[in-house]
Amino acid sequence: MARANQLSLCSFCGKSHAEVRKLIQGPGVYICDSCILLCKAALDKELRTDGGKTAARLNVPKPAEIKGALDAYCIGQDHAKKVLSVAVHNHYKRLQVENRTTGEKGAADEVEIEKSNILLIGATGSGKTLLARTLAKTLDVPFAIADATTLTEAGYVGEDVENIILRLLQNADYDVKRAQMGIIYVDEIDKIARKTENVSITRDVSGEGVQQALLKILEGTICNVPPQGGRKHPQQEYIRVDTTNILFICGGAFVGLDKIIQRRLGRNVVGFAAAEQNERSSEISKADVLKQAEPEDLLAYGFIPEFIGRLPMATTLADLTIDQLALILTEPKNALTKQYTKLLSMEGVDLKFTPDALRELAGQAINKGTGARALRSLLERLMLEVMYEIPGAADICEVKITRAVVLGDEKPLIRRKQGKAAA
Ligand code: ADP
Repeated sequence: MARANQLSLCSFCGKSHAEVRKLIQGPGVYICDSCILLCKAALDKELRTDGGKTAARLNVPKPAEIKGALDAYCIGQDHAKKVLSVAVHNHYKRLQVENRTTGEKGAADEVEIEKSNILLIGATGSGKTLLARTLAKTLDVPFAIADATTLTEAGYVGEDVENIILRLLQNADYDVKRAQMGIIYVDEIDKIARKTENVSITRDVSGEGVQQALLKILEGTICNVPPQGGRKHPQQEYIRVDTTNILFICGGAFVGLDKIIQRRLGRNVVGFAAAEQNERSSEISKADVLKQAEPEDLLAYGFIPEFIGRLPMATTLADLTIDQLALILTEPKNALTKQYTKLLSMEGVDLKFTPDALRELAGQAINKGTGARALRSLLERLMLEVMYEIPGAADICEVKITRAVVLGDEKPLIRRKQGKAAA
């Protein structure tokens, strides 16, 4: 009897079989249900808080895998996707190496792989934010978006750069280690360029000062983040976040940069060749010109050399064509028409778009000049009546959107359950 009791004790907490809900037996040992839960909680905590080890375990996908994930959400922009996939793969591999070799000093010191933040040059609505967001999702790292136009250098009215880090920290549930491996997308970076090429003697609050402030977090610094946000004040407690391994992706439309590049390219060509080039230049698209951007062009655009130096990878996104815009409506994983189709299928209604309707929508979006951004509002306006009527109409089984519907000449074609078509 005494022997049986001894055998039925949890080897961790010593409780008997009678005192616990479940006792699991191993070779010569027992563990009870509460000890299993305690172990699991301890393990989970370690996985969550030990960012270093998390990074080492972070499964870094191959560049082709990253590009594949981007392809599922973003149409076109092949070159930018490749550049991003390689840069991001290297960035996270670098983190893995760093984490594996910390502790074995020596091996780590041989070759230091430098962080390379990325600059995306492309018109509004060409997919810059989408690419950055999809990257973060693919790698399962925290992500934050900041708008460079809201930033000011410390001491001036506006947002401090620390608030960008705060947003990342919030999106990482205040897990500092995880935030330190996150991705930050800084939008409208072109708007903080100095307005003139000449260095001004007076301080330039909106341009150079912000570049200096941003430069610090871009290159890696310990940032004192006020947990509640807002402006800093001396009595506040701060959370310290190291920005060394945060990947920054900066994006902007860079209106006028093509002219600067063209001027540089033109300068190199004289005489007959220049005349020939000028003739051809009208045929060369803006995207082709932007592809040839060099650091000196960004300097002429109004960026300080140190800032450009911190964005060594620059890539351009082309303006989306009408065909690509039509594809954006139907192809990506969460394409707009797929979302409407799903919503209506919940009502037992089949939603159909004819190819010429999609093309017409894409054409209207092009005219708005805001890239794919215009598609959502166009489609929302088009679908409003349908989305209003359908949930209350039990006998409708199909709604068809044709080009005439998009043009406003006809109402959506509705098929009722009896099989009758009606407008
Ligand atoms: P940007 O940052 O270049 O101004 P966004 O990435 O914010 O543009 O895109 C605006 C909207 O258009 C988003 O809803 C996005 O899903 C869509 N979009 C833009 N470009 C593409 C693309 N190449 N493929 C699929 N959707 C896109």
